[in-house]
Amino acid sequence: MIRVIQSAKELSDVVIFNRDKGYSIGFVPTMGALHEGHITLAKKSKRENDITIVSIFVNPTQFNDKKDLDKYTRDLDGDILKLLPTEIDIVFAPTAAEVYPDGEQAGQEIDLAGLDTYMEGKFRPGHFKGVAQVVKRLLDIVMPDKLYMGQKDFQQFTIIDHMIKTLGIKTTLVVCPTIREEHGLAMSSRNERLTKETRAKAGIIYKTLQTIKRNKSKKSIAELTENGLKKLNIPPFEPEYLTLVDGYKLTPVTDIETSDYVVACVAVWADGVRLIDNIIVKK
Ligand code: AMP
Repeated sequence: MIRVIQSAKELSDVVIFNRDKGYSIGFVPTMGALHEGHITLAKKSKRENDITIVSIFVNPTQFNDKKDLDKYTRDLDGDILKLLPTEIDIVFAPTAAEVYPDGEQAGQEIDLAGLDTYMEGKFRPGHFKGVAQVVKRLLDIVMPDKLYMGQKDFQQFTIIDHMIKTLGIKTTLVVCPTIREEHGLAMSSRNERLTKETRAKAGIIYKTLQTIKRNKSKKSIAELTENGLKKLNIPPFEPEYLTLVDGYKLTPVTDIETSDYVVACVAVWADGVRLIDNIIVKK
């Protein structure tokens, strides 16, 4: 049985009760509309901790586009059914009032050292302020030993890693590989909004990233990105950015040799849906 808790106070009390017994706590924050990517995180946490908590909360403060927020799938009962086989312990499904008792502005001032100004941050102003705000608040409530996030949202976990370190939060971030659909498209709740045809063709995004990785020693960064953008600029796909960045600083790299951690990141529009993906080119 999974216990569903809506109150922040009740959740914290349950966590403290279990911690006092010496149990370890694993935490998987999500916005629901769960797919195999989320389930993989939940299973890993289950394996590595005594108690696993999955949160389901569509955080309004990270949506720069109100239409995107309105369209986001909400299906708590369906999500709980998907989690049942994982045998996790608790679903934390709070209301916005539980998460933001002092209003949605409170806690937005976390210093992200400019990591939120590149890539996603550039095209989705305010997005990472909202992400950092909600993850900080959830970590305060859940107090997990381990926090599980996906490689798919590369900039997101990099920013959360920075926040954990600079604020001295006592949790260990565990990053899990991106889970993909049959044709290579990174799983995402938004994929449901693609047509069947687009979804089948969208493997081109990951293939493009793989080609960049394969050719990393043969071509310049300018050539790699130019060729990649050309490959992705075929309707219904429309790339928003494709860039190779330093994996720590998130700044664009000009020469792969001079950086020891290089990640290729991409955002592509298709059928009015924004898809993101990334690949570690060098580490
Ligand atoms: P979301 O509900 O989309 O905000 O995602 C919740 C968590 O699941 C984040 O840490 C994501 O990075 C992770 N996640 C989403 N999609 C995938 C995927 N395809 N593979 C692995 N992790 C994922």
